[in-house]
Amino acid sequence: MIIIDGSLGEGGGQILRTSLALSAITGKAFQVNHIRANRSKPGLMRQHLTGVEAVMKICKAKTDGASLRSKTLSFIPHAICGGEYEFEIGTAGSTTLILQTVLYPLLYANKPSKVTITGGTHNDMAPPFDFIKNSFLPILHSMGASVEVQLIKAGFYPAGGGSISIEVNPSVKWKPLSLLDKGNLIQEKIVGVISNLPATIIEKEVESIQSLSGRKFPAVEIDQQKSLCPGNLVFIFEIYENITNVFTGFGEKTKSAASVGKEAYLEYARTLANDAPVPEHLADQLLLPMALAGQGEMRIVEKSLHFVTNIEIIKLFLDVSIDITRHEAGGFYVNVRK
Ligand code: ATP
Repeated sequence: MIIIDGSLGEGGGQILRTSLALSAITGKAFQVNHIRANRSKPGLMRQHLTGVEAVMKICKAKTDGASLRSKTLSFIPHAICGGEYEFEIGTAGSTTLILQTVLYPLLYANKPSKVTITGGTHNDMAPPFDFIKNSFLPILHSMGASVEVQLIKAGFYPAGGGSISIEVNPSVKWKPLSLLDKGNLIQEKIVGVISNLPATIIEKEVESIQSLSGRKFPAVEIDQQKSLCPGNLVFIFEIYENITNVFTGFGEKTKSAASVGKEAYLEYARTLANDAPVPEHLADQLLLPMALAGQGEMRIVEKSLHFVTNIEIIKLFLDVSIDITRHEAGGFYVNVRK
């Protein structure tokens, strides 16, 4: 049994998600202690528990400690079974983080799967649906994974009630990723997502982004959604030949539209200042498929705590080496090999 310290590094939910996925795939049992020790409300929250229950169902695992607020979980996986699944978080917890938990085991299942997940679809501190669809999945496709995703209904904090569906075709034949430069810029745009709120909010967010960047973006799109409660985000899309980057400002009741625009702009500016193609969030999320492929390389903008923590967890399950060196043209060069 692999023993994992949940307070390691980032000490959050990602440690659990990576462990669940890799346990199901490798058949290695694990026990994680001090779950989410570095969070103000430690232990399994609804979103994390739904992730546990989802993988548990998919691979008929035996578990101990799979309950709300639990700080210890042991997990003994069995065979991965594809099919139709529905997972309901029951709060506005992130559906995309559940997607990233079940996706990898289902790529190793005995048959194709269709999964519906209900909860939040555009959550702060998690990948928004648009990021998953436009930035993360195209890279996974290029690595040989057959996964399709659909937004059925948007869900925002606090009401949730959104849903996404994913279709996964197993028998993945991984191709090593080589993501060393962005390629030429094809398109850039600002996209404002809005639900049950006036569209003038987007105008202010766009104004904030354009005034901070000192230029007009060539395109602005408004994505009107219907949801249980009001919701708003603004994205800066940078579409290059080799990668699409999506930078997000999350709207909240307590934030001004100008500060939401600034949030997206700051993330964009931090990445633009660097020649490396892979920004912070995408970097920690690509480690797992790269490690499963057993080979690959990428240049990342920065080495976040999520990133280094994820490496520690991956190495507990897979026999891979992951080397990181500073790159002379900016950022870090990451090399994964068996
Ligand atoms: P916890 O509540 O313990 O923090 P969690 O499961 O909600 O747990 P983390 O463990 O912090 O969350 O993991 C969050 C994941 O969401 C990371 O992979 C991170 O890169 C990703 N993420 C956060 N913000 C964004 C964003 N704006 N765009 C894309 N991905 C994001």
